[in-house]
Amino acid sequence: MDFYTGKVLRLDLTGLRASVEPLDAEWARLFVGGKGLLLRSLFEELAPGTDALSPGNPLILATGPFAGTPAATCSRLAVGCKSPATGTLLDSYVGGSFAPALKFAGYDLVVITGRAPAPVLVRITDDKVEFVPAEGRYWGLETASLEELIRAEMGPEAKVLSTGPAGENLVPFACLSTDQFHKAGRGGAGAVMGSKNLKAVVVRGTGAVTVPDAAGFTREMLRLQDERVLSADNAWTYEEGTPFLVDAVSGAGALPTRNWRTGTFAGAGAINSTALLSIRTKIRACTQCPLACRQVHTFEDYICEGPEFETLGLCGANCDVDDLAAVATFNRECDEVGLDTMSTGAVVALAMDLCEQGAADYGLAFGDTAGYLRAPRLIALREGYGAELALGARALGALKGRPDLAPEVKGLEMPAYDPRGTFGMGLGYATSDRGACHMRAFSAGDDILGGAGAADSLEGKARLVVDQQDFSAVAWTGVWCANMALDPDFLGAHFKHLWGRETTPEELLTIGARIWNLGRLLNLREGLRREDDRLPERILSVPHPDGVAAGKVLGAGAFREALDEYYRLRGWDAEGVPTRDTLSRLSLAELSPGGAV
Ligand code: SF4
Repeated sequence: MDFYTGKVLRLDLTGLRASVEPLDAEWARLFVGGKGLLLRSLFEELAPGTDALSPGNPLILATGPFAGTPAATCSRLAVGCKSPATGTLLDSYVGGSFAPALKFAGYDLVVITGRAPAPVLVRITDDKVEFVPAEGRYWGLETASLEELIRAEMGPEAKVLSTGPAGENLVPFACLSTDQFHKAGRGGAGAVMGSKNLKAVVVRGTGAVTVPDAAGFTREMLRLQDERVLSADNAWTYEEGTPFLVDAVSGAGALPTRNWRTGTFAGAGAINSTALLSIRTKIRACTQCPLACRQVHTFEDYICEGPEFETLGLCGANCDVDDLAAVATFNRECDEVGLDTMSTGAVVALAMDLCEQGAADYGLAFGDTAGYLRAPRLIALREGYGAELALGARALGALKGRPDLAPEVKGLEMPAYDPRGTFGMGLGYATSDRGACHMRAFSAGDDILGGAGAADSLEGKARLVVDQQDFSAVAWTGVWCANMALDPDFLGAHFKHLWGRETTPEELLTIGARIWNLGRLLNLREGLRREDDRLPERILSVPHPDGVAAGKVLGAGAFREALDEYYRLRGWDAEGVPTRDTLSRLSLAELSPGGAV
């Protein structure tokens, strides 16, 4: 199979056995790679109702067909499992260089099952797989120290995907790390790796990916790189990177501030891209990416890749911290212990709010950086008040009798776009397959970043959200980077080489819809229902007291109507279950006979 290795590596940690299976060619045809293959495999491997932290939850690593080729930005890895944070499917993406290394070692997919009897590290060198005892050497190490040690042992070409102390301690928002600063951040894949007594997967590959007409393919990829990737549309990535969003989103009244009390942050100027550019010392790139958007900043005694916009929003504005060095240190602490900065910032902001409201006594306060900087380590180790914060926002709010202070959807803390300043993001969060997520549908682009959308209206947003979700699903079969401006023509130029024929935008969106509906079937099988496609009461009915979006709320009635419209456009019934016709149209009927799950 050109572009694919045609092999799936299965790691049974319970028996410490490795085996290789052929990649299902029909799955590759229908689901392509990345998100598609990951969800198809998860649907097969996950028994309904499995506890996310039990040995029965598979951890799946999926590459895309273009990883390891000259295609730009396709070196990203898709990581998936059932999420311990949400109980939904989880797919999370990470850049760096791990995915090409996995292809060079000979694998499209890795399926990790069971739980090792004692901590291990898995070492893959082409077709040689070793289960190395991790206790006393690797287990307990923070992410940078672990990578340093492994590179010293195996050489610089060894690529590491690891969990930190937070994952070892099963914190439900623990992330996976690779190339030190790259994170598969959301949804708790780090805890799932930890629950398997697995510290890291290390891969070193010496093979190559075969493509038909390699010279022609390379020529075409270079043309696309010049004309499309390094175009003016993408210049923001290397000029400023995601921090440019701080001013734009705060200016729209959508930057969560003081635990979502308002959306305009008075300290934005201290943590925006201008502030970061003044201390930027270099830029880095994922493998095979000419955009090099990874901004490296030098602070007094350390360097930090990032912080990215979401971290600046949730760990800065939302905690009322306008000290850039403090936000960067918080970012570094999260990176070292293996925590998702987004959920950690959201949880710490909630804890500050609980303290201010008299519902908790953690000694945390908005804007107080001393307590704030201790939080990531306490959470990762579940020490002191960290044991309660490690529950995540939904459980912490419930524990303290204030669920109203914990903005989350399906248990995932909301990203740094307050829907009261960009209504369409609310529908996107509510219907996202892995809980509140800005990466499935990004209507903020139309609402507040120069598009034609009305930020304070849900009209037309159901169509927009469906189309963006379907497009993102097909883009992540690739697995292209979401930082780049993508469209069906660009994807089609790659699929032409993959399939040897032209594709239409409709055909590509059908692949996306197939993957999205497969995810829906998975989530329904796990017990999710219409009532889980919700938004926090605060977003629906409590307006900001000030700022650009003051006085605006989505409203329960308007949200209900938009959700009805969304289900109708998807071909789902009023409860959000795909109909028989929808499943047949998308070649999914066999996964759910009769349209029910
Ligand atoms: S745009 Fe940035 S994050 Fe995306 S692949 Fe390139 S370097 Fe990596």
